Amino acid sequence: MYAFEYERATDQKHAVEKFESYDAPRYLAGGQTLLASMKMRLAQPDALIDLGRVAGLKDMRVESDGMTLGAMVTHATIAQSQEVQQSAPWLSDLAKGIGDRMVRHRGTLGGSLANSDPSADWPAAALALEATIVTDRREIAATDFFQGMFMTALEPSELIVAVRFPQARRAAYAKFRNPASRYAVVGVFVAELQHGVRVAVTGAGPCVFRVAEMEQALAQSFQPSSIEGLRPLYGDLNNDMHASSEYRAHLISVCARRAISSAIHRA
Ligand SMILES: Cc1cc2nc3c(=O)[nH]c(=O)nc-3n(C[C@H](O)[C@H](O)[C@H](O)COP(=O)(O)OP(=O)(O)OC[C@H]3O[C@@H](n4cnc5c(N)ncnc54)[C@H](O)[C@@H]3O)c2cc1C
Repeated sequence: MYAFEYERATDQKHAVEKFESYDAPRYLAGGQTLLASMKMRLAQPDALIDLGRVAGLKDMRVESDGMTLGAMVTHATIAQSQEVQQSAPWLSDLAKGIGDRMVRHRGTLGGSLANSDPSADWPAAALALEATIVTDRREIAATDFFQGMFMTALEPSELIVAVRFPQARRAAYAKFRNPASRYAVVGVFVAELQHGVRVAVTGAGPCVFRVAEMEQALAQSFQPSSIEGLRPLYGDLNNDMHASSEYRAHLISVCARRAISSAIHRA
């Protein structure tokens, strides 16, 4: 580690003002990625703007057509919330599968989306459910938000305030996880929305992506058998020490079918 300033923001405006007063600051949410990156000197901010006491960022609201979760809501809170379990069990299930107990109790929804890790779970839910990322200055559709590996549409000082998830008819997430980190080697979120089916894949590419041919087949018939034999061309997929691109293509097919089965059986 090296020297940096620490600022504790009290509200959104204060957070943004503090951020804009430094040359290379970062917002600090759960610190689960940021602090490790700093220890390894992959990130060297001159200031951390702590969001832990910013009013409103931990709010959770269930509405008739979906739910709005504050950016600082932790994975553990989402996993344990009775309201989320009743209205959108696919979100609590996903949260339960993130990392370990400590990561779930410190890591946040907003931090995960802002980070846009290619293996993170929340980007798959946000993209498949057509979530809206609400910031201090605008609303960004998930389809426009994720722009590449660790890249989002956020401007430097832009603060994620909340995430709005529309209600799905049926949905589920299935991941094949790395046994050490529990990040997704491949994760597939399938959602049957009012106007179509969405299939979003994490872990397999530089950034979360949708699989149009699976979506079209599932719009005809929402059954695991509808996507039998369909898998993305593996030449485009990640190929690393954890899994070959060919294996990842296979896992996309397996996880998608598992997610469809879970969505059907839960409904
Ligand atoms: C051992 C381990 C295992 C993990 N396993 C998984 C897993 O299985 N699945 C998974 O999805 N994730 C996993 N994670 C990641 C973890 O779940 C967190 O989601 C992730 O670290 C980011 O959230 P955070 O709150 O810790 O953000 P931080 O580390 O505090 O911040 C991350 C980045 O987001 C920015 N940021 C944070 N909040 C905001 C905001 N509101 N607005 C704008 N920018 C913001 C920060 O400036 C920083 O650049 C794992 C992490 C660890 C350490």
